Amino acid sequence: MNYCSQCGQPVTLKIPVDDNRERFVCDHCGYVHYQNPNNVCGALLTLGDRILLCKRAIEPRYGLWTLPAGFMENNETVAEAAAREAMEEANAQAGPLSLFGIFSMPYISQVYLMFHGKLASEKVWAGPESLDVGMFTREQIPWDELAFPVVTHSLELFYEHGTDRVHHAWFSRGPDRSVKLHSID
Ligand SMILES: [Zn+2]
Repeated sequence: MNYCSQCGQPVTLKIPVDDNRERFVCDHCGYVHYQNPNNVCGALLTLGDRILLCKRAIEPRYGLWTLPAGFMENNETVAEAAAREAMEEANAQAGPLSLFGIFSMPYISQVYLMFHGKLASEKVWAGPESLDVGMFTREQIPWDELAFPVVTHSLELFYEHGTDRVHHAWFSRGPDRSVKLHSID
C-alpha cells in the first residue's frame, strides 16, 4: 500500500500508538489501514459417487482443476458464499451445505471454509471463470492437475476421513514452497 484510501496522501509502515505491530498509517490524516485475513469459501458437491470440479479459466493456475471456491463477499454468510461460488463457476445448484473443514493458511493470510453437500441437479456447465466443469469419481479425479494444495488436501480428507466431523487444520509452506497440512483435531 502506498497511498491513503481516505485522503490520497502517502502512507508509512509503522507501529501506531497503543498497538504492537506495523500498520500502514496515513502521514496526513492519521488513518490506520488495518489489513486482516480473507475468508475463502468453497464446496465439495457430490452426486452419487461423483464430485464436482472446475477447470480454471483464470490465473493463477489457469487450466488446472479446482473445487468451486472464492473470496467471501460482504453481506453474505459463509454457506451463501460457497453456494454462490458453485453457481458462478459451474452453474451448480447446491443443496443444503454442511461445514466440512476450516483451514488456516497463515503464509497467505487466508482462511478456507469448505462445505459439503449434494448437487440439487445434475446439470452443470462452465461459468465465465471455468474452461470446463465435470463430475468425477475418486479414480477419475485428475490428481496431478489440481490447482491448489487446499483442493488436494480437501479431497484426500473427504475420501479418507469422510464428513462425520469438521476437519480443522492449518497449512504451512516451506522454503521450497511445498505446502503441508497440520491437523489440529
Ligand atoms: Zn489519509
